[in-house]
Amino acid sequence: MTTEVYKVADPQNLTCDDISVIDRAGEIIRNGGLAVFPTETVYGLGASAYDPTAASSVYKAKGRPSDNPLIVHVAEPSEAEAFAIVSDTYRDIAERFMPGAVTVILPKKDVIPDAVTGGLDTVAVRCPSDPVARELIRRAGVPVAAPSANLSGKPSPTKAEHVVRDLSGRVDMILDGGDCVFGLESTVLKPEGDKAVRILRPGAVTAEMLEDAGYTVIVDSAVTDLSAVGENPESPGMKYKHYAPVAEVILLDMEGATESFSSVINRMESGNDGRFAVLCRREDICGISDDAIVFTFGEKNGEDDMAHELFSCLRAADDAGASRMYIPVPRLDGMGLAVYNRVIRAAGGRIVKV
Ligand code: AMP
Ligand code: MG
Repeated sequence: MTTEVYKVADPQNLTCDDISVIDRAGEIIRNGGLAVFPTETVYGLGASAYDPTAASSVYKAKGRPSDNPLIVHVAEPSEAEAFAIVSDTYRDIAERFMPGAVTVILPKKDVIPDAVTGGLDTVAVRCPSDPVARELIRRAGVPVAAPSANLSGKPSPTKAEHVVRDLSGRVDMILDGGDCVFGLESTVLKPEGDKAVRILRPGAVTAEMLEDAGYTVIVDSAVTDLSAVGENPESPGMKYKHYAPVAEVILLDMEGATESFSSVINRMESGNDGRFAVLCRREDICGISDDAIVFTFGEKNGEDDMAHELFSCLRAADDAGASRMYIPVPRLDGMGLAVYNRVIRAAGGRIVKV
């Protein structure tokens, strides 16, 4: 299969050329093909949510285990009524946070094939805010089932070049909309009774934002504790070794440490062979050995910046041939919880307390 790649120059101002290509991508999806599109979280690999064969092609293209369900994307929150049993909680969350980086689990209707939900009787619904994504879903004329557009086990793609690397020759079209705004996947929520939600996967719609909206928020134990994941977690995606680069990821818990970040790394690296990479705050780079491959993020927006850089840096560390990658443990509030959820998976749960 040849993969057409089309660059949308300015996603905020779609030209007539952009719209006709996006319309063609919509037609590809409607007719059972696969098209990759940018979203504000990560790139998505889209197929018709009504077509079981297309859904199977998604799993095949990614090498994804078939019990890991896909998120169904809509251009307007109300479109979920066609395929899910919509509740007042969904409507309230939609009004407050959609379009946006949040996914809500709802009971599914029969039109959604089992291939999309991995056999579950629920379906995950998301309405992205990215203008290219919304135009594509509108043009497809069907809800779009889309997991992240990476090969299974690799970090989710936050730039089109990541997608081209992973999926060239495996999909019909890739729409390049530049860098994703957030860089981590959506918050996955399961409504639990009136005004209560369980976070199955943290993202840019944070626990604090939900609490400010009057919700009681339960953070599922699998979010922060790999040993709590078990065989049948609420969110099947949690049980897979996600986001893993080739390099060994070492998480450093620096809370209360008297030693500097650079000194800890130089000490841990003494006597080691091979190159190592570091992802750290810009203020912490001083003193790190010149041999290191160093990625930094800004201090001003802290964990938001770390989220934006994380997946791209994990890929870049592999490209540079790093054997090990050191990452500080993020704060656990706001977007930090989402970063923590991804980095513990990348590190296989190991944290070094300094
Ligand atoms: P990805 O497509 O890579 O962003 O992964 C989708 C995530 O949504 C996975 O972690 C799934 O486990 C989760 N998910 C999708 N559908 C459901 C569902 N019906 N119930 C619970 N979690 C779901
Ligand atoms: Mg994924």
